[in-house]
Amino acid sequence: MLELQQLTVAYGEARALWDVSMKVTQGELLCVVGPNGAGKTTLVNTLAGILPPRAGRITMEGRDITGLAPHRFCEAGIALVPEGRRLFTGMTVAENLDVGSYLPAAKAKRRETLDEVLALFPALTARLTAPAGELSGGQQQMVAIGRALMARPRLLLLDEPSLGLSPLVTAAVFDAVRKISQGGMTIVLVEQNVSQALRLAHRACVLELGRIVAEGEPQELMKRPEIRQAYLGV
Ligand code: ATP
Repeated sequence: MLELQQLTVAYGEARALWDVSMKVTQGELLCVVGPNGAGKTTLVNTLAGILPPRAGRITMEGRDITGLAPHRFCEAGIALVPEGRRLFTGMTVAENLDVGSYLPAAKAKRRETLDEVLALFPALTARLTAPAGELSGGQQQMVAIGRALMARPRLLLLDEPSLGLSPLVTAAVFDAVRKISQGGMTIVLVEQNVSQALRLAHRACVLELGRIVAEGEPQELMKRPEIRQAYLGV
């Protein structure tokens, strides 16, 4: 579905991604793990069209989308749930969700998609008219995921959805991610919560210092001593 070829991304002179090539297959949940500063956020922001690559190519469903504006990435079927959620805290939950469906194709199905989002996150139904900033961290994360789903994407990018959440709330968020995946959505999930994320994932890749250093089935990766030591603390 999505292919990256030899992607290089830099902030000024500082390179954050080096020659990254990878494929995301339709329907899979790909987990990207790696230490702080490895380039995970840079990677998903590049996949969302927010950061233009210095070199390399991004192809979505066979179409070259390298260098297009972020809203063109959205039109191509890619939606991002950014790190730290980035909600409009003074706007209501309903208004935040609406922001996600601004493209004509999504707007036409707004009511239907909203019903799907509320079926996934029933707790939001009673909070639709509340300012998003008044919600708990977990509910805010649900709004952020819901907002991305309102765009009716074919590829969902999630940047550390468990950040700052308690273990119980994290489990609920991961449960929702599993349901979205089981519904057929293609997902790229960046997570610090490695053991839980790997349990969800169909495939995983490890990013270190801007390069992919390992890739494979989660079960296989978890058997490797260096991965167990670095990411699973065992
Ligand atoms: P974390 O888990 O801490 O979010 P990450 O794996 O997502 O880390 P990135 O945030 O993508 O890593 O950062 C990759 C590299 O790029 C780091 O060396 C970081 O310092 C650098 N970097 C990130 N954002 C910027 C920026 N806006 N300007 C300059 N350098 C940046």
